[in-house]
Amino acid sequence: MADRYLHLTSTATGRFLTRRLGLPQPARLRRWTLETPTLPGPALHLTAGDSAVTDELGAVLAACGPEVVARADRPAGIVLDATAVGTAAGLGAVHAALHPVVRSLAPGGRIVVLGTHPSPDDHHQAAAQQALEGFVRSLGKEIGKGATVQLVRIAPGAVAGAGSTLRFLLSPRSAYISGQVIEVTDAAPGTVADWAAPLAGRTALVTGAARGIGASVASVLARDGAHVICLDIPQAQEDLVRTADRLGATALPLDITADDAAERIAAAAPDGLDILVHNAGITRDRRLANMAADRWASVIDVNLDSVLRTTDALLKAGTVNRGGRIVATASIAGIAGNNGQTNYAASKAGIIGLVRSLAPRAAADHGITVNAVAPGFIETKMTAAVPLFIREAGRRMNSLSQGGLPVDVAETTAWFAQPASGAVNGQIVRVCGQSLLGA
Ligand code: NAD
Repeated sequence: MADRYLHLTSTATGRFLTRRLGLPQPARLRRWTLETPTLPGPALHLTAGDSAVTDELGAVLAACGPEVVARADRPAGIVLDATAVGTAAGLGAVHAALHPVVRSLAPGGRIVVLGTHPSPDDHHQAAAQQALEGFVRSLGKEIGKGATVQLVRIAPGAVAGAGSTLRFLLSPRSAYISGQVIEVTDAAPGTVADWAAPLAGRTALVTGAARGIGASVASVLARDGAHVICLDIPQAQEDLVRTADRLGATALPLDITADDAAERIAAAAPDGLDILVHNAGITRDRRLANMAADRWASVIDVNLDSVLRTTDALLKAGTVNRGGRIVATASIAGIAGNNGQTNYAASKAGIIGLVRSLAPRAAADHGITVNAVAPGFIETKMTAAVPLFIREAGRRMNSLSQGGLPVDVAETTAWFAQPASGAVNGQIVRVCGQSLLGA
């Protein structure tokens, strides 16, 4: 279902009317296309206090895409290095750096604040670094004009590991992500030989790829050079084959809950998988008092149990190659909860638990990262089935006042999947335009 309100507010009359009525003003988001692969201007590199990583960060930023400058009238990105902020008084340097320039940020611009982990041994440093989270989330809510604001926490000595994350956040690919806190570990990040095809030579499996978000994930991974195996239920075979054919991908009609799902996936990927995307998901909404056991069981089975079973079996069989990337699909419902979705929210919160627990062990044992996307309101058949008023509320109740597109989730998945994202592990990144739910 098209977002007619977004269309209305992009006309002069519509803008006039909706402004007079005090209604939300969603900006047209500038997403990645071949013609607009980068931000429409330079990125400003600012520092709060005496940073120990200025030079190293400068080198990482220089390789990130946008031109990086120390001064600009109309920057399209602002990177504030706040890693050295360790006291409440030191937070003044954050205000001093951003207050004079925040108004000059171009529409659809990006602000990325770099911090470090709040220390368990120094409560002053912990207070100051945690303060950055409240700062970023508030700025994301007030900045408007399609601009986004994030906090990236870098482990000590791990600036190089933030390269793929900064490249993603300072690009049109992250248009629908705002108010997020992303942690970068000190693991070796890995490299990409050719940024025009960062996934070249990789084999990816995407579940639920016949339509919606999964089809978009398959398409973006293929665009980035991966060979993709598209999996979906046999009943969706027609759409599945059409999607796979369009992408030069392989179609694998298979119900992910089948007992032999992992064996059949392994058979379809004789050289193993480098990227495993658990995207298939279903809803069977009812309030708990009205929910029959089969509605509960089917959602838990498709959304969570099959993810656990296939991940375990594929890791055990060595089907996920060393250096591999596992990306699962949570939901903001799994963070905030949702009326009528106890089964769905339980399954999606379960995904978050799985990711957080498995990520460090998968990295230590197999050099594999495990992360999750947590979509908010994304325009798909799943959300088109939501009743009109709830659908309209879901679309507008976020800092960007609009729903996201499947490609927004797909771009996030592709960033997690990159060989250069080895230091991004155990993260749950919401792709929700900074939804008020679970904020
Ligand atoms: P969709 O219903 O459009 O597509 C889901 C796909 O998964 C379908 O093609 C379906 O056939 C497939 N599938 C279902 N059960 C399967 C099974 N047992 N085996 C194999 N394939 C199966 O949904 P979508 O909106 O594209 O959602 C994709 C994922 O994103 C889901 O996990 C969903 O929970 C999650 N999500 C979506 C939104 C949203 O706003 N659309 C928000 C949060 C999370």
